[in-house]
Amino acid sequence: MFIIKLADDVNRYLQNQRSKGSITGFVPTMGALHKGHLSLIEASKSANVVTVCSIFVNPTQFNDPKDFQNYPITLENDIYLLEKAGCDVLFLPAVSEIYPEGTKEKKPAYELGYLETVLEGKYRPGHFQGVCQVMDRLMQIVQPHNLYIGQKDYQQCMVIKKLLSIIGSQAHINICTTLREPDGLAMSSRNMRLSSQERELATGIFEALSYIRQQIKPGDLSNLLQGARKILEKKQLVPDYIEIGDADNLSLLNEWNGKTKIVALIAAFMGKVRLIDNMILPLNFADYGN
Ligand code: AMP
Repeated sequence: MFIIKLADDVNRYLQNQRSKGSITGFVPTMGALHKGHLSLIEASKSANVVTVCSIFVNPTQFNDPKDFQNYPITLENDIYLLEKAGCDVLFLPAVSEIYPEGTKEKKPAYELGYLETVLEGKYRPGHFQGVCQVMDRLMQIVQPHNLYIGQKDYQQCMVIKKLLSIIGSQAHINICTTLREPDGLAMSSRNMRLSSQERELATGIFEALSYIRQQIKPGDLSNLLQGARKILEKKQLVPDYIEIGDADNLSLLNEWNGKTKIVALIAAFMGKVRLIDNMILPLNFADYGN
């Protein structure tokens, strides 16, 4: 695996690969890699000649400076895992490579509209502008044929789709399913910041989502959401939000017509660690006459 730190170098290397006709896949990450990240590498390897992974803890997407300071860094292990997974190129830039003109918010902002006003957008002001800044720059540098991102960050997938249309990128987006621990907890770099007791309680998020999936019926959703909220409370999880939205545009629903494809989304604190997860509902869509 080549480890490349300079944007110009990785750009030149990949341009050369593309000119030889190599199809390239790109997996952007913030490191502290786990099996979820590696499943994206695997998906890229199965469909591309060259797989590029980036590790960059992007300062502009952290609305909470403490979250940025405490973000786990496990570079040596990440390199080991990527080598083992057969990744071809690791792009490992310094902040100055991604933000040659500094990290101040770019003007004008990316026009994300409604998407930026709800859920993560509401609770993490500026977060998606930071995501767009880094993804815009990474896409310019890497120019992949295929981009691999995780459904775990559901709203982020929608934001990135919108960004690609704003910047006119032709890259194909591949959204990969969420990998979970055996007890259902979605794999996340942040899980390693949980104490063993917190780690056990954190399964409440998956339990609440599973409860919604099992209990959902057409009609009013408030009792269902109340029941899910109680599951979180019982596990000492403090939610920022627990919502059900239209899976295609994330408009939030108080009622379900039994037909629209929907997604349940949760963000909750376990101690000082903020966790997010989601589930597309109902899994058995055919049951509802679609
Ligand atoms: P991050 O390093 O957290 O920015 O994540 C990098 C990429 O991995 C993003 O596209 C995430 O959505 C994806 N990802 C994170 N956790 C998982 C998971 N448990 N399963 C699959 N993909 C994931």
